[in-house]
Amino acid sequence: NLKQLMQDLIIIIDQNAEKKNIRILSDISETTFIRGDSARLKQLFLNLLTNAVNYSSEGGEVNVSLSNEEDYVNVSIADTGIGIPEEEIPRIFERFYRVDKARSRNSGGTGLGLAIAKHIVEAHHGSLEVESEAGQGTTFHVTLPKDLTQN
Ligand code: ATP
Ligand code: MG
Repeated sequence: NLKQLMQDLIIIIDQNAEKKNIRILSDISETTFIRGDSARLKQLFLNLLTNAVNYSSEGGEVNVSLSNEEDYVNVSIADTGIGIPEEEIPRIFERFYRVDKARSRNSGGTGLGLAIAKHIVEAHHGSLEVESEAGQGTTFHVTLPKDLTQN
């Protein structure tokens, strides 16, 4: 149940976001079932939500939305954070790759979160895409096949 899973994660991430005065807004009205490993799917979305908060400054906003297509569900996580320069985008899914190590040093990451996220999405026959503009913000789009026996 993707709606339930996202709502549970938002409650967890909200506690970190609050410390930075970042608002998490969500538009997740439809219950959608997908078939997969729920622990891995939680990790996937937790990695994306954690990045959205970590790479945003005080007073930012994170928008989470879920929308259904006939066979697929799309979840997007959009932030108003520091963004990713165009030339760096092809590399962010590589293991241990971090954009501008000095810039992200204080967030203390290892550069594995997105590599893991991509791996999990692909294991579920979905796709993970990113749109970003330096200084403006970043949106990650996760597309996963719906469980057509339950929806
Ligand atoms: P961790 O392994 O703890 O997740 P990380 O956050 O550095 O460490 P990734 O999640 O793989 O590693 O992200 C790779 C890099 O991509 C980050 O270091 C950051 O530079 C950039 N990045 C990821 N998400 C965002 C985002 N929402 N906004 C801006 N930059 C981002
Ligand atoms: Mg990360």
